[in-house]
Parts: sequence; C-alpha cells; structure tokens
Amino acid sequence: MKSIRIFAFLFFVMVAAAMMAGPKVVAHRGYWQAPGSAQNSLRSLVKADSVGCYASEFDVWRTRDGVLVVNHDADINGVVIADATAAEVLAQHLPNGETVPTLDSYLAEAATLPVRLVCELKVHDSRAAERRAVEEIIAMVKKYGLENRTDYITFSCDAFREFIAKAPEGAGVYYLEGNYVPSQIKHMGGAGIDYYIGVMKKYPQWIKECHDLGLKVNVWTVNKPEDMQWCIDHNVDFITTNDPELLQSLLAK
Ligand code: MG
Repeated sequence: MKSIRIFAFLFFVMVAAAMMAGPKVVAHRGYWQAPGSAQNSLRSLVKADSVGCYASEFDVWRTRDGVLVVNHDADINGVVIADATAAEVLAQHLPNGETVPTLDSYLAEAATLPVRLVCELKVHDSRAAERRAVEEIIAMVKKYGLENRTDYITFSCDAFREFIAKAPEGAGVYYLEGNYVPSQIKHMGGAGIDYYIGVMKKYPQWIKECHDLGLKVNVWTVNKPEDMQWCIDHNVDFITTNDPELLQSLLAK
C-alpha cells in the first residue's frame, strides 16, 4: 500500500514537473467549454482557475457612457457595446444565464483566485475611447491588487503603445496583430508577441529571435493536438487555447 502511495506521489511530481517545464496554458476567453460555462463569463474564469490554467484571457469593451465590460464580440445579442449605455449592455444575458460581467465584477472575482490574467482591449473606432480604457483598466487592476499578475494584449497599435507607457512594472504587454517582427516589438518596449498559430508556423524563426531579445512568445488560438505539439516542440512560452485540459494532457506526456 505504501509503495503505491509513493509511486502515485512520484507520478504526480513528474507530471507537475513536465507541466512546469513546457509552455504555460492560457484559457482563451476563460474555460468556456466546461459545463455551465460561457465565453468571458465569471464561471469561465473560475473554471480556468479550477483546472490549473496558468492564466485566463478575457476581452474588454468600453460602453458609450464609459463602463468597461467583458465580452468578445463588438455586440451582445445585437447591442453594440461601444454605442450603447452600460444599462443596455448589462441587461444582456450570456448563453449560460449570467449577465454580461463588468470589468469591475470580473476583477473582483479574479482577486479571490490565484490564476493570472491576460486582459485584451478590443479595437474601438474611437482612439480616445481606447486611451481612456487603457487608463481605466490599469487603475481597476490596481484597485484589486492584480498588478503583478495581469498582462495586456491588443490588436490596436495605439493601445499597445499606451499600455507600454502606462502599465506597472512587472506587467507584460503583448501585441496580437502579427505584422511586427520581434526587433520592432523590442524597440517599442513590448514584453513579446502573441500571434496567431498560422503566423507562427509561417515565421517559426521569430520564436528564437524573441528569446534572443529577451521577449516571450504566446500563440493563439491553439486547439488542434498537432498544433499544440508544434508549439511545445518549438519551445513557445504560452499557448492560448479553448481546450486547456487537452493541452495539459499533452504537456503531461
Ligand atoms: Mg481575446
């Protein structure tokens, strides 16, 4: 009996060591494929944490009247977030029955969990709205004491520069668009690249270039086992996926 326990313990240590050695798992829009979950819901954040993801990614929009909310698409049930009031947006329900979370409620939940956060600011038509959103996001992350475990990503070059200028020490700022080479990201002050798997397969040399420059590499959205294995074999730092448990099982092999 004792030997079985020792074997189980050693196996657990080996699995844990293997998972720590490889790329870190980032749940894309939370772990939304879990039972009772939905993209960018509070439940998706809790589920990402409960299965041991390194980080959970989510998307932020700013309403017309200046409230930050968590949602991927520009609209929710046809209500265009950037053109609507918070009251209109927050009355909308997600597929799992939750209402759309405000960033405030999302970060309040995150503050009770150990999981790291990857905060994406969506591209708004108004650059002024993006700039205000960057300031407000950083202030809210600070309010909840999450400065040391929140990284920032965006497709907006303007917001990328704003985050770099305003994010606290220790926060990583990553660019999503895939149109800058690693040396440009380094020059702008970014922490690394967070590029689409198709882009990374086209330019795999960027992984080593990033590492040589002291930058990190995150790849999205990696859902096929063969793409996950490609990322593992190519030594990327983070993999963003809709299927964190599948990725964890590959990392444990
Ligand atoms: Mg996103």
